[in-house]
Amino acid sequence: MNIKVCKFGGTSMADGNVILSASKIVKADEERRYVVVSAPGKRFGGDIKVTDLLYACSDAQEKGDAAAFEETFSKVRARFTNIEREIGKDLGVTAALDEAEKEIRAGAGPDYCASRGEFIAAKIMAAVLGVPFIDATEFVRFDENGVLSDETYVLAKEIFKKTPRAVVPGFYGLGVNGKVKTFSRGGGDISGSIVARAVEAKLYENWTDVSGFYACDPRIIDTPKCIPELSYQELRELSYMGANVLHSDSIFPVKSAGIPIRICNTFRPEDKGTYIVSTSKRTLGGNVVTGVAGKKDFTVISLEKSMMNSEIGFVGKVLSVIGKHGISFEHLPSGIDTMSLVIDNAYLKNGVLETIVEEMREIAHPDRIYTHENIALVATVGHGMAKNIGTSARLFRALAEANINVIMIDQGSSELNIIVGVDNDRCNDCIRAIYGEFFS
Ligand code: ASP
Repeated sequence: MNIKVCKFGGTSMADGNVILSASKIVKADEERRYVVVSAPGKRFGGDIKVTDLLYACSDAQEKGDAAAFEETFSKVRARFTNIEREIGKDLGVTAALDEAEKEIRAGAGPDYCASRGEFIAAKIMAAVLGVPFIDATEFVRFDENGVLSDETYVLAKEIFKKTPRAVVPGFYGLGVNGKVKTFSRGGGDISGSIVARAVEAKLYENWTDVSGFYACDPRIIDTPKCIPELSYQELRELSYMGANVLHSDSIFPVKSAGIPIRICNTFRPEDKGTYIVSTSKRTLGGNVVTGVAGKKDFTVISLEKSMMNSEIGFVGKVLSVIGKHGISFEHLPSGIDTMSLVIDNAYLKNGVLETIVEEMREIAHPDRIYTHENIALVATVGHGMAKNIGTSARLFRALAEANINVIMIDQGSSELNIIVGVDNDRCNDCIRAIYGEFFS
């Protein structure tokens, strides 16, 4: 039988009634045999996700603030016991919460603490569906660098071969020290993708609260176009740049097996959603641009040196400085006598920017080094742009007409994206101008 893996995100697990709707979706299709869940998310604007509450519990525990721990953990308790009440049967929630509280108090650490949202949510979903619960610690493995290990698939294949249906908590696995380790935030999408690959699914359905992947953030453009189909690569580019429907790393497990991902809406299950596939069948008859997304808070460090082009090792020296500080860069646009490094502001706090600029000056002796802080990167993405003459002319004309100063330009080698750096406060205007040019 063909297998579908369904992953339900936080809003699809937010309360008892939505969990019941999600379970109906699973039951409506025999092929939906494996279910991966997130922790309960926000029920309304201003609500707090269970994962955020759990991180706050962990902080309080580490600071030894017993009152804050009590108060926050009681909110976690209330979320799960309400869900149990809404579903209307004993799902073993109290025992699971007691066990989690005991372990957290005994110092199980932040990753264990954060993972309990998914753990208890999966227990609930397994009980509602009447199918076995399989803990992610039984097969998701990280290596010594904290990267997902291939052992994961060997273990997962063994387990799922013996279990034709199961519910699995997303977001975590086991680190090399034998302790629970989480993915980065939103990593439940990666867990779903791992299960899809392990069971050789024909489709990985990612159930969320939107009807697909939009060409642009709906908070910036009112009702943007929904993209019916995009490639893994386009998805990665757009989600890395801030389109937060799906975790940008979630394509890797399914990519080599060519398993398509479908984004579907738990609240409108009849909507077609978006398919993410190896090679999009959309042709140039469609739009040359697939989507536009932006991310704020970067710094550009620019270095100038006459004859930089013929000085062997100049770039290496500059990069050795950021390597030494454990900093990675996003882009490295360069000219004959100039190079720039685009770095996430998060790496440069508490004097780090000043220190690395000084070290670059000492090691590489540039004629001039200067920084431009608080830059937003805006990516225009689409396979259709390749070999399509005039695309960048349209893009830059639109930016000029919107009176937007472009601080940096970078184009990926496969012509899949054009990235511009603009001042943070022009980020949304920039996205609006590009969307307006290509989609209106
Ligand atoms: N619950 C986790 C988070 O809020 C992981 C996930 O939902 O995928 O980041």
